[in-house]
Amino acid sequence: MQNKLLTSDMLNRLGMVIANKCNLCHQAEDSRDHLYVECDYMKVVMNKIMQWTHSQNIAAWDWKQHVQEVIRRAKGKSREAELFKMLYTETVNCIWIERNKRIFEKTSVGWERIAKEIACVCCVRAPLRIAEIVHRYRF
Ligand SMILES: [Zn+2]
Repeated sequence: MQNKLLTSDMLNRLGMVIANKCNLCHQAEDSRDHLYVECDYMKVVMNKIMQWTHSQNIAAWDWKQHVQEVIRRAKGKSREAELFKMLYTETVNCIWIERNKRIFEKTSVGWERIAKEIACVCCVRAPLRIAEIVHRYRF
């Protein structure tokens, strides 16, 4: 959330000339706003993870609204907030790893596999306080 993601548009602004199509959906320019708000690949993975945990999808039309929604849902020490923080950070992390694998290793996997990996990681890494909730969900 610090606006330091090295997406293609940011690298181009820093003087590095690289292709700037999103490597996940191939539909638009690779940018922070696209990745978090518009990218169909990101959306389908995030929605599947939210659906898995019976959580509401993140509904945002722009970056500012996205940040506000994430902060609102991650705020506090409730189990719901803790669960949301874990789901959100693991999803963003796995998507970023997939994006980089596509760019640097020329490999790719479908959104279903990424979503399953995120669910597995969340089941393993869930703190005790929310592990019992997470383990109840069926993917
Ligand atoms: Zn995309």
